[in-house]
Amino acid sequence: MSTLDKDGMLIDDKISLKRYTSIEHGNLTRVSAVVVHQTDAPTAQHTFNAYNSGGNGAHFLIGKNGQIYQTASTLKRCYHVGRLIKSKCLTLDKNSCDSVEMAKILAKSWSNQIKALDAHERQKAYPYRYPVNSDALGIEIVGKHVNDTQYEAVTPSQNEALQWLLAELYSHFTLTKTDVYRHPEVSYKNPGEAKGATW
Ligand SMILES: [Zn+2]
Repeated sequence: MSTLDKDGMLIDDKISLKRYTSIEHGNLTRVSAVVVHQTDAPTAQHTFNAYNSGGNGAHFLIGKNGQIYQTASTLKRCYHVGRLIKSKCLTLDKNSCDSVEMAKILAKSWSNQIKALDAHERQKAYPYRYPVNSDALGIEIVGKHVNDTQYEAVTPSQNEALQWLLAELYSHFTLTKTDVYRHPEVSYKNPGEAKGATW
């Protein structure tokens, strides 16, 4: 079992610590969920190079061979979810949405609709909405985007590493399987991202 140190880093032989403060943006005061991604880059090094210049990133990265890196502190917020989240009630059970408000939103044009849905969802507390940057950890799996609907397959060693890492995060942050999401479930992304990830 790993330990979580005072800087929010997971200490274990299986994890290589490679923190980029350049991708940390303020404090992450609570962890309610985990979002699983694929990098759209061929190697871990490509992502490290991008992290050097800051901007978007996630807390963990899993290389092609299953090596786990921690790239940001679990006490810090990373930008990995994106600006606009989808509506969880619409996806899972339309009848659980506020029907009057939802009818108004769905009458808007697509671009206004996704902005209005995001604003509406952000008024809710997790787990009634999808996770956002300020309450979720992110795990990136190295893998290239192939086309509009597909990413490279997640390798068996990547899935094994993902499952081990998630088990550690479940115990450190009191999460369960239901708190883990593929990025395209949460925001408007290529539907193939992290499709081959299993947990
Ligand atoms: Zn992603």
